[in-house]
Amino acid sequence: MSAPLIPTASLGFPRIGPRRELKTALEACWRGDISIDDLLDTARSLRAATWARQHAAGITCLPSGDFSLYDHVLDTAVMVGAVPPVYAGAGRDHAGSRVGLDTYFAMARGTPDGLPAMEMTKWFDTNYHYLVPELRPDQNFFLGDTRVVDAYIEARGLGFRTRPVLLGPVSFLMLAKCADEAFDRLRLLPGLLPVYSHVLRLLAAAGATELQLDEPVLVLDEDPAVTAAVTTATEAFASAATGLGIMLTTYHGGVDHLADTLCRLPVDGLHLDLVRAPDQLGPILPKLAPETRLSLGVIDGRNIWRADLSQLLDRLTPIVDARGPERIQLAPSCSLLHVPIDLNRETRLDPELRSWLAFAVQKLDELRILTQALGEGRGAVEEELAAADAALAARRASARIHDPAVAARLAAVTPAMTRRQTAYPVRAKAQHDRLGLPAFPTTTIGSFPQTPEIRKARADHAAGRLDDADYDALIAARTTEAVRWQEETGLDVLVHGEFERNDMVQYFGEQLAGFAFTDHGWVQSYGSRYVRPPIIWGDVSRPQPMTLRWSAFARSLTDRPMKGMLTGPVTMLQWSFVRDDLPRMEVCRQIALALRDEVVDLEAAGIEVIQIDEPAFREGLPLRRADRPAWLDAATECFRLAASGVGDATQIHTHMCYSEFNDIIDAIAALDADVISIETARSKMELLDAFTTFAYPNEIGPGVYDIHSPRLPSEEEMVALLERACARLPAERIWVNPDCGLKTRRWDEVKPALQALVRAARQMRQRV
Ligand code: GLN
Ligand code: ZN
Repeated sequence: MSAPLIPTASLGFPRIGPRRELKTALEACWRGDISIDDLLDTARSLRAATWARQHAAGITCLPSGDFSLYDHVLDTAVMVGAVPPVYAGAGRDHAGSRVGLDTYFAMARGTPDGLPAMEMTKWFDTNYHYLVPELRPDQNFFLGDTRVVDAYIEARGLGFRTRPVLLGPVSFLMLAKCADEAFDRLRLLPGLLPVYSHVLRLLAAAGATELQLDEPVLVLDEDPAVTAAVTTATEAFASAATGLGIMLTTYHGGVDHLADTLCRLPVDGLHLDLVRAPDQLGPILPKLAPETRLSLGVIDGRNIWRADLSQLLDRLTPIVDARGPERIQLAPSCSLLHVPIDLNRETRLDPELRSWLAFAVQKLDELRILTQALGEGRGAVEEELAAADAALAARRASARIHDPAVAARLAAVTPAMTRRQTAYPVRAKAQHDRLGLPAFPTTTIGSFPQTPEIRKARADHAAGRLDDADYDALIAARTTEAVRWQEETGLDVLVHGEFERNDMVQYFGEQLAGFAFTDHGWVQSYGSRYVRPPIIWGDVSRPQPMTLRWSAFARSLTDRPMKGMLTGPVTMLQWSFVRDDLPRMEVCRQIALALRDEVVDLEAAGIEVIQIDEPAFREGLPLRRADRPAWLDAATECFRLAASGVGDATQIHTHMCYSEFNDIIDAIAALDADVISIETARSKMELLDAFTTFAYPNEIGPGVYDIHSPRLPSEEEMVALLERACARLPAERIWVNPDCGLKTRRWDEVKPALQALVRAARQMRQRV
């Protein structure tokens, strides 16, 4: 008989279902095609399958309460009764819960009669988005629902003893926003803790013995008030004497700067993300009381690469020897929410690449191998370790991922290549002479409606039901119509419409060396919206031009300036799973060089204006302030490397959406794009204040048409917005455009809106 193995824990598993069952059920329920009870049935069977799957993978500590119909932060808000008053009347309460599902979905999505959805924002530096709870200074908390308790009982009924997961009270408050005026939300903690304690008691009464309490805000810039609040909360839970052992869980960064405090908290255990912050263990280990359980987050919950198990065993063995196996757990670095479910479904993926990957299910298996090796000796899993070693060695040595030509080009990049030939005022003159545009020039952000006809044609083409010639003929016809319509409408800088593109990253990734795509690798972006990020697995290069064909075709249709459309290097990086054997910014530079070639080709084909979209630029910003300047320097340099191969008379645009600019305005200026278009319609141009204060020197197109809303803006509204823009910026540097691309809108919306936009620009011109 060998000793009991070190426990393995899962901190959370994807909720979407291996076949996106949750999305299907949610959307059917929202359409009214299935009932709420049908939806709840689907959710229940997904949970049951998930527990069974993790149990079968050999995980000893299964999570419950990690499932969510929409978002776990929204779940927490509802659990503590933090429902903004406007939604209070939105729900016909569903039997069995106090805040009903109608209210829940109203908060998540808004209502047909005009209640807006709650604001959404990025969950730390991931591509998951959560709903931002709203708090008022006089906020009352109450037990709004018992979902986490119900899930625990449900699992027990199926024979699984789980460890419930809760987003901790301090992270909940810090991730929320103050509804009206700003106030210190940690003041609300004393009112919030009794609700949490109540939930803890209910869990204990239901039989739970442990709790995973997530406090990821601890990894952010140090804030003594936050650390003190976590202390207060854990002390309150300890004195509530529920009997639940609390695993205080941190991820997406390190907490070694808080070691003294965290190691003294009255908790049962501490989980550390040792993938993002491997070095934190050194300072923390000696301070940790011997009886505190240490959860080692050693398997990457954020990326899809197979782990180096042998190296991990070398690292783990001395820790296990020193602390003893009883007080250790092995876990992924964070919830597996951020990775696809099962690699085994990717039957069409390149077999060699596949052998280098691990999705959620495979990651749990890696934990099982580690614990067996530690408990029973490496011999017990000899074959599996050998296979992992072999895959890793093959990946390191692969000639397919290391392209000497790419390395040579990168090494030859000079500072001059990252700068335009002259300063903005000089080249602006050359561009204005060449383009001959009026004041307040009009343009769009690139895409025109992706109609059902185009989507169907693309699906048919991909499935082989439509041949290349017929597909191309359709794209050519729609592009021609779009160009003609823009001419007739009087837009100044035209676009080809992006009809040929499936997605702004995928379209490029499919044409670049070094990228791969999965069939089923979906991950939740928010609610029922899932994305399938590309995998950047090898050195990136551009075997041939990517956009030249359709841009040149569009160019040939008109005498007006035609804008070429590209997705920028930072956005491609942010929206992909990136190889972990190179620094991220080196991968970004490779993409930038590939794009640079495209930019130069477009210029040579007579395209006068080239837009490099960077909607995800801000998303790469490191969580800690101290890390930001270096990242911003590298990111802006990548953009400029992509953009700067052209002559003065070629105008470079960039576009960003959903962005706040205050804290990155100097980096935005450092991009040195001739024109930047941004999303401003909803903020009534207030987003422009950052540009005013900074005295931003180049041209700006502040969006005057909120394309996220089906509502059509009037000419007067757009004029009013432009007036507000003129109060903030010199009129001669203002462009007139929508907030973003029009691909999600219909032509019968786009046409009147853009006609009004052109009239608004003409009104403004008469005033200068
Ligand atoms: N050019 C892209 C489009 O118009 C930009 C999309 C985006 O900013 N997300 O669709
Ligand atoms: Zn946009």
